[in-house]
This record gives sequence, structure tokens and C-alpha cells, in this order.
Amino acid sequence: MIGIYGGTFDPIHFGHLRPALEVLQGLGLEQVRFVPLNVAVHRPQPIASAPMRLAMLKAAIRGQPGFVADPRELQREGGSYTYDTLLSLRRDLGSSCPLCLMIGADAYHGFLDWYRPLEVLELAHLVVMRRPGHDAATGPALRKLYLERGSDGPVELESAPGGRILFQQVSQLEISSTRIRDLVTRGLSPHYLLPEAVWELMAREGLYGPVVSGASSTV
Ligand code: ATP
Ligand code: MG
Repeated sequence: MIGIYGGTFDPIHFGHLRPALEVLQGLGLEQVRFVPLNVAVHRPQPIASAPMRLAMLKAAIRGQPGFVADPRELQREGGSYTYDTLLSLRRDLGSSCPLCLMIGADAYHGFLDWYRPLEVLELAHLVVMRRPGHDAATGPALRKLYLERGSDGPVELESAPGGRILFQQVSQLEISSTRIRDLVTRGLSPHYLLPEAVWELMAREGLYGPVVSGASSTV
């Protein structure tokens, strides 16, 4: 069973990484594939370039068994639709491999507005990670979908390639890329919100704002 973790990763931070590790271990996944998006379809475009976001992602996961950077959306023109990404993964991994699309609660709330959401749910299971500031309550349509498709654990997910929705308990870290970018723009250090190696890259490249003096020992 393989986890797919899509996002802007602008930049990647501990709020992505710690929950991803807990899902990897909690569901016994073979790997988590981090898939940075190229062209956003439901939100403003990323600030950092695609190569920089990929470089930060690789720096963040280096040495962590089971974590893989998957650049397939960056190699595709046009809007980064999860539906297309899952079709492409199915071509590579086969039709029977259980896939778990990992999303935070904020992304889950908008799930039915995605491109072809029900086909997405046929192609993969949804594993939803709670997130501070985003409660579990959803609208009637999503509640109905959960009543039909809700799952209570990994054994059920293992037994089908996709189609189920599982809420997975993860550490609640109140961190967002927006907050990190805001700090840097204001000349404040984002230290301890993200891996040191990512912060070093950001500082070296002058990403998101001026270099913060004394923020990192190696720059
Ligand atoms: P931004 O503030 O730019 O939107 P972000 O921190 O929300 O960035 P994204 O790249 O938008 O990060 O999110 C990618 C995925 O990671 C989404 O499914 C999102 O819900 C999830 N996610 C991000 N931060 C957290 C967190 N702190 N806890 C749980 N899930 C998270
Ligand atoms: Mg976000």
C-alpha cells in the first residue's frame, strides 16, 4: 500500500512531515510519495519556483526510509489535477495496488469541488489527517459520502485499490507554509517550524524575503 501526499510545499514544513511519518507507520505503508504540484487549480500560484520547491522537498526527506519525492506533476504541462496524477500512478504501479491519497482536513473540506472527485475516490482511498484550525465538521454532501465510504482501519484499505475514506489521528502541529512565508517576509526567523536543511536552502536562495541574520548556523 502506497501513500500519495500532494501539495504546494512552498515550503515543506514539519506540519507535512510529522503527520506523513505517522500515517506511513500507522497504516504500514511501503512508502509515501510526496508530489509537488506544478500549476495550482484551486488556489493562488506558488511563490517559489518548481525546481526550488522540489529541492526543498528532497532536502527535507533525505535519509528518511519510505519517503520519496515524485516530480511527475512538475513534468506535466497545464493544471495539476489529482485525477491525472492518479491515472499516471496507476499506469506505473498497476491497477490493483492500494493507493492512499493523504490530505489534511482543510483539503478534505473542499474535496467535492475537485476535478472528478468520485473518480479520484475510485482510483485511491482518501486518508484524512486532522489539522489545527480546521474542525472535523463537513457539509451534508461530504457527510453522505463518508456514510457510504467511511473505513475504520488499514486492513479494509489493504483489501481494495481505492474507494474508502479513513480519518487518521496525527500530531496536531499548527504550522502552515503561509505562516512561514509571512515570517520570512517580515524579516523574522521560521526556525524550528521546518527542517534545518530546508531553512538553509531558503536562506541561501533568499526565498520569500530578506535573509534573517543569525537564523541558521551555516549561512
Ligand atoms: P499554504 O499555507 O501555502 O496553503 P500549507 O501549509 O497549507 O501551505 P499545502 O502545500 O497547501 O501546505 O498543503 C499540502 C497538504 O498538506 C494539504 O493536504 C494540507 O491539508 C496538508 N497540510 C499542510 N499543513 C498541515 C498540517 N499542519 N497538519 C496537517 N496537514 C497539513
Ligand atoms: Mg494549504
